[in-house]
Amino acid sequence: MLEHFDLGLKPPASVSQHYYFVYSGYSVLGRISENLWTPLLEQEWKDLPLSANSVHYIGFASTGVLNDAACHAIELQAGIDAPLGYEWLNLRHFIHYPDESLFALAGRGMQIIEWHLTHQFCGRCGDLLQAHQTDRARICENCRRTFYPRLSPCIIVLVTRGEELLLARGVRHPEGMYSTLAGFIEPGETVEQAVHREVKEEVGINVQRLQYWGSQPWPFPHQLMLGFYAEYKSGDLVLEEEEIEEAQWWHYKDLPNIPPDSTISGKLIRDYLVQLEA
Ligand SMILES: [Zn+2]
Repeated sequence: MLEHFDLGLKPPASVSQHYYFVYSGYSVLGRISENLWTPLLEQEWKDLPLSANSVHYIGFASTGVLNDAACHAIELQAGIDAPLGYEWLNLRHFIHYPDESLFALAGRGMQIIEWHLTHQFCGRCGDLLQAHQTDRARICENCRRTFYPRLSPCIIVLVTRGEELLLARGVRHPEGMYSTLAGFIEPGETVEQAVHREVKEEVGINVQRLQYWGSQPWPFPHQLMLGFYAEYKSGDLVLEEEEIEEAQWWHYKDLPNIPPDSTISGKLIRDYLVQLEA
């Protein structure tokens, strides 16, 4: 998604175009015309009567909608009204946006702001943290610790049994929407162990033949989803009631509502259907 995007700390000297992703809480300010959302151009941001709490360079795009532009994230106070001609879009809205690079970029900006806001002070000694000179990091000069942006790796797995897919509805998910299983990786655990453990905990079964599929950053607030296929091995479905409302095997020709294509869960499911029909 960010193949043509340089994540450096400073824009290249030659860059003349700048875009600003302006955030208030989990909303991003932009212009919408003909159903296309775009972030603010430099002059548009400068013309607004708004003041930034913090500004972060997020990278340089060399393709797509934001071609040859340096992108910046601006943090405002939460709860600011949209200026005339602009609209706030919740970050989750970008999941459904046709240009996937915008979700990736808007998510990256949000993650950097979230990290900045939660790393003002050293977690060890309480001193004020300073920006690192050469890395995307904050440092404590008292105890010489360095704090990098936090990522939380998670597994997400589609369990299959031939022509059947195991799909579940989590207790926090909307009625009628069924998805793959997912969970955080624990300290000291391998990714593969996390897949086996999460499936066993959430639905009570054993799986085998794990196959890595791909990954997706998930900025709510800083997960990195690592996607897998796993084949059913043994056991009956026994649901973890605190996490899973419903789970069952679905024949691939008779599936319920599933997550959109732009999510890794949707991609895992749709790719499996393609494999079955091939
Ligand atoms: Zn410290």
